[in-house]
Amino acid sequence: MLIAKLESTLVDAKNAQRGGSYLCPACGQRVVLHRGTRVQPYFAHRPAAPCTFPGEGETAQHVVGKRQLAAFFADWGVVTLEHVLPTIQQRADCWIAHQPRPIALEFQCSPISREEVAARTQGYRAVGAYPFWLLGKRYAQQRLGWGLIDRFAGWLKGWGLCLLFWDVTRQQVRIDHHICQAVTGEYQCQQTWVASLAALVQGPHRRQWWPEPNLARFRWELDRDLRRSSDTLKPLQTAVYLTGHHLAGFPDSLVTTQVTPPLFGRGLLLWRIVVAAWLFEHVRFSRATAQRLGDEAFRLVGGTTTAVRFYGADLVQRALGELLADLVAARLLQRLPNGWRVVAQPQWAADYTAWLENDEKKLG
Ligand SMILES: [Zn+2]
Repeated sequence: MLIAKLESTLVDAKNAQRGGSYLCPACGQRVVLHRGTRVQPYFAHRPAAPCTFPGEGETAQHVVGKRQLAAFFADWGVVTLEHVLPTIQQRADCWIAHQPRPIALEFQCSPISREEVAARTQGYRAVGAYPFWLLGKRYAQQRLGWGLIDRFAGWLKGWGLCLLFWDVTRQQVRIDHHICQAVTGEYQCQQTWVASLAALVQGPHRRQWWPEPNLARFRWELDRDLRRSSDTLKPLQTAVYLTGHHLAGFPDSLVTTQVTPPLFGRGLLLWRIVVAAWLFEHVRFSRATAQRLGDEAFRLVGGTTTAVRFYGADLVQRALGELLADLVAARLLQRLPNGWRVVAQPQWAADYTAWLENDEKKLG
């Protein structure tokens, strides 16, 4: 840690003298000043009496990063290092006295569970502070996935849903922004480095661009995963199989290129395939039926509506509205006053029908 208590005042390690009787401002135990030629000065608990306050073990990255962040965010208000909040038993790495709402900055370098992120986020909100997470090297090296998005992603004006990383070598923020999911399920983002707070506030200067989903590859991977009898695909395949189809033989009329919030589990396309397979079992159906099937399929593809710091409202309802509109436009459904009528069946790929017939012969 960088700040310790000497008698009744707080002392920064860079101004501290050896031999003082320093105490941890959080738990009140003795801490020792460490000064070396290669690391910045810091205080540490004695190994026999570690801190009783939750927090992370100090690494050189964490110690250096906190000071850099305090300087980076200085224009937003007076920054206090290692601000202790006794009422919620938390210590913010940097506390920015921002108006109208203070910002609690966490520079997260070590592993942390979803529960702990949720608890700390909740704690800061309870004291009226805005929780702001910046992730260290360990996280910067990880591939963008649900584990990161679920725990740390939040909305930032101009950047959409994003993750922020602090690089102590470059002394810049890496922003993985406009995080979303391709219809084929991959998580994607745009990446921008910012060197100043002004650039962070300004937002990205490039237009967002997403690659076209590779559907041939998606179909091929789906088929391969089904042959390996992947556990997550099995319930989806069963659902579609019971309607007489094969998951990888999905009709082209169900394809869309839009991106979704990153809450769709295995992706929007699989969801559309399952919902369509179920809807076309009907002669006609109501909105309530469509909504029920949409929700059920959302659960099957592993979708969720809430992460620690954001949630997707009306996610299924919106996706359903778009799917039904697409099917009406493709002249497969007709809109009725109280629901929809099936006009024609979508075309499922023939190869897989053949595969199904063979399978049935074997069973017979
Ligand atoms: Zn302590």
